[in-house]
Amino acid sequence: MLRFDGVSKTYGDSAAVDGVTLDFAPGAFVALVGASGSGKSTLLRTVNRLAEPTAGRVLLDEQDVAALPSVALRRQVGFVFQAIGLFPHLTVAENITIGPRIQGMPIAAGRVAELLDLVQLPAELATRMPAQLSGGQQQRVGIARALATSPPLLLLDEPFGALDPVTRDALGRQVRALHDELALTTVLVTHDMAEALLLCDRVVVLDRGRVVADETPASLLDGAGGPKAQALVAVPRDQARRLAGVQQ
Ligand code: ADP
Ligand code: MG
Repeated sequence: MLRFDGVSKTYGDSAAVDGVTLDFAPGAFVALVGASGSGKSTLLRTVNRLAEPTAGRVLLDEQDVAALPSVALRRQVGFVFQAIGLFPHLTVAENITIGPRIQGMPIAAGRVAELLDLVQLPAELATRMPAQLSGGQQQRVGIARALATSPPLLLLDEPFGALDPVTRDALGRQVRALHDELALTTVLVTHDMAEALLLCDRVVVLDRGRVVADETPASLLDGAGGPKAQALVAVPRDQARRLAGVQQ
């Protein structure tokens, strides 16, 4: 479905992404984890050409994204940004429909209600302005917008970063449920290893632009993946241990 084939991206003389080769099968739910500055966003952005690789190729269904017409690319890839990025002067409904409309493939009016329902928002919110929504509701609209053209591939770049822990946990589970229900292929960028372990089928760890681990949550918890990955796994594990200690 999605393949990074020796992808590098350099800015000046430093490599943000450094020779990444990865294959994502249809239906996979993969976490991309790593410290701030490890190249997660840059790698994700090569898929929809917001960043152009300096070397290597990104393939969507065997086709080089560099050669895909941008309308086809937008239709195939839903992208959810960390900074939610709704247009403040447009209603919720307009925010959801503007992308497809600009690309010359307007979506049917009834589709907005359907998309809001999909992300568990009441249909009445369609006429609100973004400022009249909570952070969690805004990010749900961001997800609805990404899904407007029914793309098979959903890319989420730290989508829950700005949310309170309760909303974050609920929304994370709902994204997982949507992935299963719509049979999506999903890549979730997060710096939170607990979130990655709990939601995803596979965890890829980036360090300074390179893949240093590519494991299932179960094998990471069994100690696989090397020191960088294990340092990340140690954080939620130690927290769980300390919480158990508090309880006694
Ligand atoms: P992450 O998402 O893991 O925090 P990024 O992909 O945003 O990491 O950044 C990886 C590296 O590339 C960082 O060192 C960052 O400063 C650099 N970088 C990212 N985008 C640009 C850009 N447009 N120009 C110059 N450097 C950039
Ligand atoms: Mg980032």
